[in-house]
Amino acid sequence: AAYDIQVVTIFPEYLAPLRQSLLGKAAERGLVSIGVHDLRQWTDDVHRTVDDSPYGGGPGMVMKPEPWAQALEAVRPPGRRLVVPTPAGRPFTQRMAAEWAAEPGLVFACGRYEGIDQRVADWAADAGPVSEVSIGDYVLAGGESAVLVMVEAVTRLLPGVVGNRESVEFDSHADGLLEGPSYTRPASWRGHEVPPVLLSGDHAAIERWRRAESLRRTAERRPDLLAALPEGALDDAEVAA
Ligand code: SAM
Repeated sequence: AAYDIQVVTIFPEYLAPLRQSLLGKAAERGLVSIGVHDLRQWTDDVHRTVDDSPYGGGPGMVMKPEPWAQALEAVRPPGRRLVVPTPAGRPFTQRMAAEWAAEPGLVFACGRYEGIDQRVADWAADAGPVSEVSIGDYVLAGGESAVLVMVEAVTRLLPGVVGNRESVEFDSHADGLLEGPSYTRPASWRGHEVPPVLLSGDHAAIERWRRAESLRRTAERRPDLLAALPEGALDDAEVAA
């Protein structure tokens, strides 16, 4: 069966990129099915109100719980994971993407304003797993762009979506390290040369060079990732370097 993605938002047009590129093709080929729903269809006043002022005071508005409950009752199959993007969430990671890709699909609830009344996520946990996640330490205006990011990360791990399996397996983060640099023709370009080892045809030497570059780049840009590697992930020579 197709991997099933359902998104609820007050800006359905914002999710148009889901119909394009790799994902659009995956949908055409029946690998992924995508539904985008306007939250306002589950309001019952003439103004189609989705927000209200926060209890306890403070700036901004909060999304009302009832339209969300009705939306989720309509679009979320029993047991299906609900993903709620929020800057106050746990960090979204490649590991999460891989775990979610092994499930039958995902439902996304896009917040706007100051976010969604907390009781929606609490209530939704009775019907299946709920993940409140952040895509990074910055604040966006809404969850839609975060959903595009997560859907792209998850769906490219689905069998058949990316033509070359190896390209997915060797990506940055797949082994907890950043990938090193890549080059293509010409070997000499505007005074910059491709590292000679890549032209050597010596596959063992190329593998050693790639591993070293991957470690060097990770140490330089993301020392936190190196520190988080499990014991024994690096061999003694690498630890010494
Ligand atoms: N008052 C909220 C807080 O400080 O936690 C910020 C709400 S933000 C302005 C509005 C919406 O954008 C959020 O409900 C969420 O859907 C989305 N959003 C903002 N930053 C995000 C991030 N880093 N990751 C995921 N979603 C984010």
